[in-house]
Amino acid sequence: MTAVTDAAIVVTGRACGSCTLCCYLPDIDELDKPANTFCRACIAGKGCSAYEARPTTCRDFLCAWMSDARIDEAWEPARCHMMVYRQGMQLTVLVDPQYPQAWCREPYLGQLQAWARQARAEGGYVIVYAGDALSVIAGD
Ligand code: SF4
Ligand code: SF4
Repeated sequence: MTAVTDAAIVVTGRACGSCTLCCYLPDIDELDKPANTFCRACIAGKGCSAYEARPTTCRDFLCAWMSDARIDEAWEPARCHMMVYRQGMQLTVLVDPQYPQAWCREPYLGQLQAWARQARAEGGYVIVYAGDALSVIAGD
């Protein structure tokens, strides 16, 4: 995890619940945590066991589903097995390696292509990480 979201306000009605994907999928330098491994402080299905002492990266982070009402319910991380976040002009999608094809299914691929078209028009781009594979999404 190397960036925070643009907006740190939770969308009304959304909550992390038992999702812990942001404690699993990203690399987190402050915790010396590689990608696709659980943080040592994460209790699966529950959350952070070091919540008050969690590093700044964790304090500042919300995935895009939690912070952006334009991202619909299909993108709930625990449901789609993916986590989306913005990093400047880059929209990043981290795919749970247990579901490496999740992003290729609909409605996800079509939505990724639509986001890529929109991002390209604004000088941005969309990248998907699924295990060791990296894909730059084209609008078509
Ligand atoms: S990935 Fe999003 S929904 Fe899941 S725990 Fe992290 S912030 Fe919450
Ligand atoms: S310190 Fe807590 S919030 Fe941060 S990655 Fe680990 S379990 Fe998650």
